[in-house]
Amino acid sequence: MQAILEQLEKTARIERDDLIKLLADDSLDEAIFAAADRVRRQTVGDAVHLRGLIEFSNICKQNCCYCGLRRDNANVHRYRMKAEEIIRLAEHAKALGFQTLVLQSGEDDYFTPERLTPILKAIKALGFAITLSIGEKPPEVYAAYKAAGADRYLLRIETTNSTLYGRFHPGMSFDNRLACLAALREEGFEVGTGCLVGLPGQTLGDLADDLLFFQAIDADMIGLGPFIPNQDTPLAEAAGGNFQLARKVMALARLLRPDANIPATTAMEALHPQGRILALQSGANVIMPNVTEGDYRSWYVLYPGKVGVHDTPENSVEAIRKKIAAIGRTIGQDQGFRSKRP
Ligand code: SAM
Ligand code: SF4
Repeated sequence: MQAILEQLEKTARIERDDLIKLLADDSLDEAIFAAADRVRRQTVGDAVHLRGLIEFSNICKQNCCYCGLRRDNANVHRYRMKAEEIIRLAEHAKALGFQTLVLQSGEDDYFTPERLTPILKAIKALGFAITLSIGEKPPEVYAAYKAAGADRYLLRIETTNSTLYGRFHPGMSFDNRLACLAALREEGFEVGTGCLVGLPGQTLGDLADDLLFFQAIDADMIGLGPFIPNQDTPLAEAAGGNFQLARKVMALARLLRPDANIPATTAMEALHPQGRILALQSGANVIMPNVTEGDYRSWYVLYPGKVGVHDTPENSVEAIRKKIAAIGRTIGQDQGFRSKRP
C-alpha cells in the first residue's frame, strides 16, 4: 500500500480499488496526512486564504434530511437579512482585512436576481472576490450572478451515490445537481463541490467515487466534512461521521487535486477542538471565518456543536490568525484564485 500511496503522491492518479484500500487501512492515516501536507506545500504553498462567511438567510425551500435548515424543521428561528445589513457586514469584513467573501444561505427564493444582483454589485465595488453558496438555480440565474460580479460557487454533490442522494434529498434530483454543476462551469465560475462523510449507508466505495468525481469534474474547490446528526431532523438517531475519516477523505482530495483550494471546514472543528488546524496540516489551505454578527450566528444551525456561535467577527478572525501563525503558516495576501498547474 505504501507504494500505491507514493505513486498517488507523484502522479495524482489511483485506481478505485486502491483508493478503497487506502480508505480502509487505518495504519496509513499518518502517511496520507503527511503526503497531502507535502503536496499542499509544493502546489499551493504555505499561505492560508481567509474567506469571510456571511450567512445571510436561513430560510430554505429544500428538505435535505441531514440539515437543520430544512423546510420542515419548525424549531429554527428563521431570518433573512436586509440588503443594507449584508452590505454592512461586507464593509466590516473589508475593515478586518478580508479580500474574499462567501455569501451562503438556504435555498431562499426571496433572493431573485432582481434582489441579489444589486447586493453583489455593491459588494464587488468594495473590491471583493465573491463566492456564492445558495443552492440550485436555473442556468440563467447563475449567469445573472456571474455578470453581477460573483466569481465562485460552492455546490456540494453531497454524495455521488445516486440512491443515497435520492434518499436524503426528498423532492430533489441527482441529475439536476449534476446539471447545476455543469451550468456553473459553463457560466465561467470557479466551481466548488464536496461531500458529507459518514452519511447512513455510505460505504468506502461511495467515498472513493466522491473523490474520483472531484477529480473528474476538475473541481476548483473541494469542501467536505463529517455529517453531524441534528436532533431536529429525520437523521437525529444516525451515528454520524467521524473526524478521522473526514480528515482522510480531505487529504486524499488534496492528493487527487493537487492545486485545488480546499477549506478546513467548521464541521471538522465541531468534532475535534483542533479540527481546522489538523485539517490545515493534512492538505487544506483555506479557512472561512464567520463574519456574520449577533443572533444570526446562533440561528444558522445546520448541526449541533457549531463553533464560534457567540463570537464576534473580530474574535473569530483574531483566533484563526493566531492559530495559523502558531503552525508556521502565513495568511494569503491576494484573493486566492486557483492557479492551475499544467
Ligand atoms: N443551501 C445551500 C446548499 O445546500 O448548497 C448552501 C447552504 S448548506 C447549509 C451548506 C452545506 O452544509 C451543505 O452542502 C451540507 O453539506 C452542509 N450540511 C448541512 N447539514 C449538515 C450536517 N448535519 N452535518 C454536516 N454538514 C451539513
Ligand atoms: Fe437547504 Fe442547503 Fe440545508 Fe439542503 S443543505 S436543507 S438546501 S440549507
